[in-house]
Amino acid sequence: MCYPAHSEMEIKIAREIGYCYGVRDAVDMAIEESERARGGKVFTLGPIIHNPDTIEMLENRYSVHAVDAVDQIDRPGATVVIRTHGTTAEKAKGLSDAGFDVKDATCPFVLKTQRKAREFAAEGYHIVILGHKKHPELIGIAGHVPPDQVTIVDTREDLANLKRQLKIVVLFQSTVTYDDYAWAIAGIGAKCYEMRVLQTVCGVTITRQKRVDEVAREVELMIVIGGKNSSNTKKLVDVSRKYARTVHIEDPEEIEAIDFAGVKSVGIGTGTSTPDFLVDRVVGRLKAKAGLPAGAPAKAGEATATSPPSR
Ligand code: SF4
Repeated sequence: MCYPAHSEMEIKIAREIGYCYGVRDAVDMAIEESERARGGKVFTLGPIIHNPDTIEMLENRYSVHAVDAVDQIDRPGATVVIRTHGTTAEKAKGLSDAGFDVKDATCPFVLKTQRKAREFAAEGYHIVILGHKKHPELIGIAGHVPPDQVTIVDTREDLANLKRQLKIVVLFQSTVTYDDYAWAIAGIGAKCYEMRVLQTVCGVTITRQKRVDEVAREVELMIVIGGKNSSNTKKLVDVSRKYARTVHIEDPEEIEAIDFAGVKSVGIGTGTSTPDFLVDRVVGRLKAKAGLPAGAPAKAGEATATSPPSR
């Protein structure tokens, strides 16, 4: 059962919300390419970011279409934007060879990890990437080195299957935490003569977790806004749950299903691919429930939904 909120309810917003720079630049690139195409279709292989509202906005307003495979692109020579997570070297080359106008919106941070993977592979290292096996970012990074020179480790079973190597370099998915994979490091070290560990977790995601941690400690209920398939948003939910009842929502409508009975403080955090307009809508609904005027700030000193996110 859901209860209305009340006027004593305080709303606190984490100090960093909205798009990270990688997502913002990718969305901007897709919009610019759509404007350059003057109404013609622009494509992305897979969703450009993990947020369904942004994907819908790009499709409806800018004719930017996410497709699952190249053969779904019905326009020879069309512009294809590579998404923030990047792609394999083979897929990128395949797009160019097929005559598409390829624009690369891979986040610079992910590009750097791809480059490091190539450099270390060229020096004879076996590349071990710690993270979620099916995540497009990891598939993309792994696709920049020969298949027999890379292993993705997500579980203890993956680690057990890792063959002995002379030299291993360890990389991380940009949105995990080092703690999540601490268990793997000693095991990998036991499988090689030399091990290098590169800290490839993105600083933006680390900061987001700290900011959500700060707010979650101070409130009774946390609302984390972000795609249900967004890895960094799910991580924020895990962090928040240590301190407060936490609800992960993707759509502002989901607010209506939350039980606010007796809740005096609500915190808000967002994943790195959550647009500001979604935060605004959620805060608007919360203010309405709390009986606050639309322009009223959230907790003083915290970001308000209408202020630009710090990056
Ligand atoms: S979270 Fe970090 S790695 Fe991922 S897109 Fe944003 S800036 Fe790039």
